[in-house]
Amino acid sequence: MKLIYPKHHLVKTGPITRCQICNSFKLHTVLDLGHQPLCDTLLTKSMLNEAEKTYPLRMIWCESCTGVQIDYCVDGKDVYHPGYPYRSGISKPLADYQRLISHSLIEKYNLNKNDLVIDIGSNDGTLLSGFKKKGIRTLGVEPTNIAKYANAHGIKTLQSFFDIKTSEKIKKKYGKAAVITTTNVFAHMQTIGEVIMGVYNLLEDDGVFISETHYLLDVIKGGQFDTIYHEHLRTYSLRSLMALFKQYDFTVTDVERGSRYGGNIRVHVTKGKGRTVSKNVTNLLKEEKAAGLGNIQTYEKFARRVKVARLEFMDFLIKTKKSGKSIVGKSSPGRAVTLLNYYGVDKEMIPYIAEVDKGLKIGMYLPGKHIPIVHERILFKDKPAYVVMLAWHYGEFIMKRLKKAGLKSDFVIPLPDFRIVKNSKV
Ligand SMILES: [Zn+2]
Repeated sequence: MKLIYPKHHLVKTGPITRCQICNSFKLHTVLDLGHQPLCDTLLTKSMLNEAEKTYPLRMIWCESCTGVQIDYCVDGKDVYHPGYPYRSGISKPLADYQRLISHSLIEKYNLNKNDLVIDIGSNDGTLLSGFKKKGIRTLGVEPTNIAKYANAHGIKTLQSFFDIKTSEKIKKKYGKAAVITTTNVFAHMQTIGEVIMGVYNLLEDDGVFISETHYLLDVIKGGQFDTIYHEHLRTYSLRSLMALFKQYDFTVTDVERGSRYGGNIRVHVTKGKGRTVSKNVTNLLKEEKAAGLGNIQTYEKFARRVKVARLEFMDFLIKTKKSGKSIVGKSSPGRAVTLLNYYGVDKEMIPYIAEVDKGLKIGMYLPGKHIPIVHERILFKDKPAYVVMLAWHYGEFIMKRLKKAGLKSDFVIPLPDFRIVKNSKV
């Protein structure tokens, strides 16, 4: 059997002129976010004396498949550089969440100890550990050094990128898989065709591929333009995922939604055509249609909302600075880089961003605007008038925690619409 895939499913580094998913020319610019640096290339103090690379960043919508994407691809080797802030210790809520995924998949697909489950981009093996505990055979595939950590902690992991060649190697050594999963990587990859055909090669005849990514409907409804950054090559709608798998011997058989990363989509894709399709699929397609994901007006409205939120934020920021009141930032997720660079906020406007992170980002500078990232204790010492919630999608949780810890400041929520939350209202 020859394992071939459409040429456009190898996304080349540089400008992109056709849809990454369906190869259509019918692309529309929703937002031009200017030239921006890579959001996970944080700068050290000495790097402030060097030139900094930026790349075009535009939010593009495809009229043919309704997928959203960016139209400039940065080489994966530059994005996922050795200093990429990869967290080894996954948080407890994330670990619990991943355990739930494994339990629901074991039940749905009647997995047993003869079955093999493979996770692509398996990180420290948390997702697989849920399967392993139930006696199911597991294998992780992970390109970074965290594969060593996973192996040391009993989750068998192949340190490699996943492509057709890797799938062949795995098949020879371990046999075929009943289920292949991937969470938070399928929107990032340049090698879409290699991954899909590698999965195809490795799956049993009735095997299922489950992919979880951030979700276009949540991005549009939630005004989340700040999820657009170079790592996210694509933002899938269900319709675009169906257009993608239509080009292969696969059927999208089920879909679920979740709250991770500000709203996500998990598709179940079964090998072969003409499979039984869950009602969830038809229902969500209807919901996407009703929300206008197929109409350009929806994206124009989205862009207008973003631009109003930006103006109101900047207006407030300038007024606050002029009046002599202090305002600082809180949390530095990747999305904060898109937001502050697009808004044009530097350290004159927001002198620092406070972080709880132990070690990884503290002492570094935000790409592009060079705002220093400092330990949260400085925030408590300074008692600023306002704190900007840059991880605003977790705003409620963070505001409550800060208030409980004694912070008296008011809060600024930048998106989806600009608003101030009084400390007394938290
Ligand atoms: Zn398309």
